[in-house]
Amino acid sequence: LMLLTRKLIEVRNILKSIDHDSDKLTLPSIVVIGSQSSGKSSVLEAIVGHEFLPKGNNMVTRRPIELTLIHTPATKGRPTKDTLVEYGEFPGLGLGKITDFAHIQKTLYDLNMAVPASECVSDEPIELRIHSPHVPDLTLIDLPGYVQISNIDQPEELREKISSLCDKYIQEPNIILAVCAADVDLANSPALRASRRVDPLGLRTIGVVTKMDLVPPEVGAGILNNNKYPLALGYIGVVCQNKMSRFTSTKGHDNQGGGRMTSAVLKQEDAFFGANKEHFRAPARGRNAGVEPMVGTDTLRRRLMSVLEESMGSSLHGIVNAVQIELEEASYQFKVQYNDRTITAESYVAGAMDMLKLRFKELAAHFGKPEVRALLKQALDDKVMDILAQMYWSDAKTPELSQLADNRKLSPEELDRYWQYKLDASTSALTKSGIGRLSTQLVVDAIRSQIEQLALTEPFNHHPDAADRIVGFGNAILRDRFGLTADQVENCVKPFKYEVEVEPNEWEAGRKGSLQLVERELSMCDDALNQIKKAVGGRRLRGAIDYVAQLEERDRKKALARLRAREAQSEGSDSGSSPTSLIETDEDDDPTRPDYNSALLVKAREAIFLSQRSNILKMRIAALKARRCREGPDSKGFCPEAFLNVVADKLTYTAVMFINIELLSEFFYQFPREIDSRLVYDMDKSELARFARENPSVKRHLDLQERKEKLETVMEKLDSLVKIYQEKQAPKRQA
Ligand code: GDP
Repeated sequence: LMLLTRKLIEVRNILKSIDHDSDKLTLPSIVVIGSQSSGKSSVLEAIVGHEFLPKGNNMVTRRPIELTLIHTPATKGRPTKDTLVEYGEFPGLGLGKITDFAHIQKTLYDLNMAVPASECVSDEPIELRIHSPHVPDLTLIDLPGYVQISNIDQPEELREKISSLCDKYIQEPNIILAVCAADVDLANSPALRASRRVDPLGLRTIGVVTKMDLVPPEVGAGILNNNKYPLALGYIGVVCQNKMSRFTSTKGHDNQGGGRMTSAVLKQEDAFFGANKEHFRAPARGRNAGVEPMVGTDTLRRRLMSVLEESMGSSLHGIVNAVQIELEEASYQFKVQYNDRTITAESYVAGAMDMLKLRFKELAAHFGKPEVRALLKQALDDKVMDILAQMYWSDAKTPELSQLADNRKLSPEELDRYWQYKLDASTSALTKSGIGRLSTQLVVDAIRSQIEQLALTEPFNHHPDAADRIVGFGNAILRDRFGLTADQVENCVKPFKYEVEVEPNEWEAGRKGSLQLVERELSMCDDALNQIKKAVGGRRLRGAIDYVAQLEERDRKKALARLRAREAQSEGSDSGSSPTSLIETDEDDDPTRPDYNSALLVKAREAIFLSQRSNILKMRIAALKARRCREGPDSKGFCPEAFLNVVADKLTYTAVMFINIELLSEFFYQFPREIDSRLVYDMDKSELARFARENPSVKRHLDLQERKEKLETVMEKLDSLVKIYQEKQAPKRQA
């Protein structure tokens, strides 16, 4: 018979795990209210048959305790670990099965005490399930006791908080268990008062009158007769003082506290009611004529079971409808939004990993030798341009070099040592610039930024931790290979530091390449010059340039004068005119042009520099195109641009070869393996689920899917219950 309650408790627990706004999805539970010290805990413990609630003079119930009692069949003989029959568990805490009720008591105590005193009470319920052959299937919610008298320890605020917390729980469809002590006038019972507010007819309130032993039996019987404040479900009188427990510590670590209540304690109640039998008989007259008053914990238990069962039964129809509606809605949404496609965290994670590896493959395919060569060549070309600018293009003698090149009679061996030396210095500047580190660093940086990009792309943008780890794996491999690769490259370019042999075809390629580069340099130079012209205006710029030229002329004169004066001084002849006076007289022919501000003069100087550079570059382009340069590698002294380009090419070729072997191949081999073996390999089921849910769209999908599945389960269970219920009702109706 009690199957209905049991099954509905299961349903209730599933429904609780589905988030929903609808009140209609809640099944009734028994809510226990009463003032402090009314004996609430004693009653609950009597029902469970164990002392497990925290005790203390201070208010210790600060959070609602949702207590689910689950009846388990008794096993024969001593229970072993596997046939555990009596245990509690806190589903929210993951502590596993707890067989020691003192441990449960301690846990509850700690959970309650964890609520900061400033908050007084918390709305967040503690879930506790107790499995035992000695309990009926029931769900009970223990609430903080009403505060009767406010004092310093228990301020007014607490009183209101408790009362509003209780109000939340005593709503329909819950059954109210109003606990009142027999020795306190029922008119003063806050529990009854609260219940009357929400259940004025007393249709879902059961009165429990505790401490029957503290009043004369006839007074007690009078209370139970249910005349003063009638309740449809009646009053039940109990005596359930657990004398031993009152002296056990709050922590309840000794054997008595938390142990199974001795039958002596329970017998105490039988003894009391037995001894006062004549008082607890059915009255002959009045509204309860012929109805025996209900007494004893056992009666209370049976009463609770049948009331809950009844209440569950009458909720059944409503809940079936409500679940049906929710399920239809969830199914509809699932169809519309996801076309009924189910996913799992595992499949999502596997998909994300496949995607990552696929992208990595693409990355590797687009990052081979040609790409690395282009990358390095460009860096070295830039370097060559810098060296040329520094060594040749700023050298006032460079135009001479072009003239020398035109002299057909001059053989390369006869070229001035000055130019030979320049070429050697320039070549060294290139070959000894730390090519190993430079090139390795370039490639490492490029790979790193690609991997970072990879880790930012969908779906890893939703998984910052995983993205960090991906980048981390990549960096670790690169760090590992860096030193070795750089050393290898440096070692292999070493011969070029002493001699670079150039074949004619290499020379020609280098000449063409350098021609392009110098031409590009020239056009950049001219562009910059034009920009200045455009910004300043051609005429104004010319004026400013003339002015700057005058200034420079004056500076040159001054310097010359200073030099002469110093010479005159050192010759010892005192001509009478001091060098300073000479300079001062110079100031007079200072060309003053007030509308030239300093910004304009800076531009003018830049323009002068650019046009000089442009002239030199034009000359060099002509030289590179001329016969001498076309002759071959022997002309290298005349055409440093071509030669350095060949050197840069050779350095690049060597660097690419070793970077490819030592860095790229290793990286492309190790990285996917690292991902496979370390990114998700050690994730357990719950970590996989957490990972998948980091992605909001996957979370929505999974949530809806789970909701639908849970509702389906609930619906199945309810369907079978409806059948049972109808079968149960049928004979009643016939009778
Ligand atoms: P709670 O504060 O409402 O949980 O009340 P408790 O269950 O802790 O009981 C308060 C006090 O009343 C304790 O000292 C109990 O021993 C005592 N008490 C509870 N039930 C009975 C009873 O039936 N008879 C007697 N004499 N004392 C009881």
